[in-house]
Amino acid sequence: MSKEVKHVLGISGGKDSAALAIYLNNIYPELDIEYYSCDTGKELKETYDLIDSLEVYLGKNIKVLKAVSDENHDPFDHFLDVYGGYLPSNTARWCTKKLKLMPFEKYIAGDAPIVSYVGIRGDEDREGYISKKANVQSIFPFRQNIWSEDVITKVLKNENLEFILKLYQESCFHDNKDRILEIAKTPLSNNYNQKTKLGFLLDSSTKDFNKVVFQFLKTTDYPLGKVESYPLIENEDILVRSDIFSILKESGVGVPGYYEKREYKVEIDGEEKTGYYSRSRSGCFFCFFQQKIEWVWLYENHNELFNKALAYEKEGYTWQQGETLEELSSPKRVKAIKKEHFTRIQRTKNNFKSPNLVDILTDSDEWEIDWEEEEGRGCAACFI
Ligand code: SF4
Repeated sequence: MSKEVKHVLGISGGKDSAALAIYLNNIYPELDIEYYSCDTGKELKETYDLIDSLEVYLGKNIKVLKAVSDENHDPFDHFLDVYGGYLPSNTARWCTKKLKLMPFEKYIAGDAPIVSYVGIRGDEDREGYISKKANVQSIFPFRQNIWSEDVITKVLKNENLEFILKLYQESCFHDNKDRILEIAKTPLSNNYNQKTKLGFLLDSSTKDFNKVVFQFLKTTDYPLGKVESYPLIENEDILVRSDIFSILKESGVGVPGYYEKREYKVEIDGEEKTGYYSRSRSGCFFCFFQQKIEWVWLYENHNELFNKALAYEKEGYTWQQGETLEELSSPKRVKAIKKEHFTRIQRTKNNFKSPNLVDILTDSDEWEIDWEEEEGRGCAACFI
């Protein structure tokens, strides 16, 4: 492999990026990966613990990137001052831009070719943050399709069809070669879109598709066009949520502590019930993407952090629309939020007749999170 291409992986403090670091370290030790983490100054202690454990496991330093070096303020508080106390929100997400994306862009500044690994899983349908810089290429090792959308669009463009067909003819020795060539030579149309063609090619032979893409990249300026060989083109693994937890546990690094479910009591129709809550994401302790029940979790399990979050709410600025944290933490609201959460989880469970319910809702006895709901919220840069 060429020395000039740099390989980087961002550790968010979430489960997927941590598992990706472990996975790549174990399966592809020949990749010399640099690890980094963008520190807002407001991460949970569990995130810092995870980073420490990963450093020990990987035997490598994880470079901490801070958006500013300000002796008096951590990065979040620095930018909060710059924005005149205006708290970030779903619709004004200056925090992600300033505290996560800009430090990353600064870290990869220059023209050196860079491959950036992203922990989007095989059971997710999203892309994550992709740098627009021409010298940066994203790779998704947990998915069947390891390539980014821009690469796929170029490879499957009708104008490249003859070239791709030629690459398949030269490099494919699969039993199913005739069928694969048939797929490769069918142009995209209204009735045959990119997603369908990609699915057919990957399902016919992931390795052959990867080989063809890799050869195609050699005719481009993409970073992986500059290396002689690349081990991930042989990869056929598809990793889903349960695999991520297995990787974290089996490595000894462990699952971030905030996922661990904790009991709460709630009265439903005059009867006391036991519900479970936890935090479902990494990122800042006051992150506005968290659900009401996560705020209650913070209030009851990290009260000092809840009070710090509350102290930021002044002059009309609040973390959530329509309710201050002071209002949310009143006994009446806490009770109502728990009741709503308990009822929703029960309803979801009852609606699923599938034996795979356990996979959908809990993955294990140790946590009970509605992952489908949670992972659809928020930003990939902070939570992967
Ligand atoms: S974790 Fe939430 S508050 Fe922190 S930078 Fe990301 S989006 Fe903003």
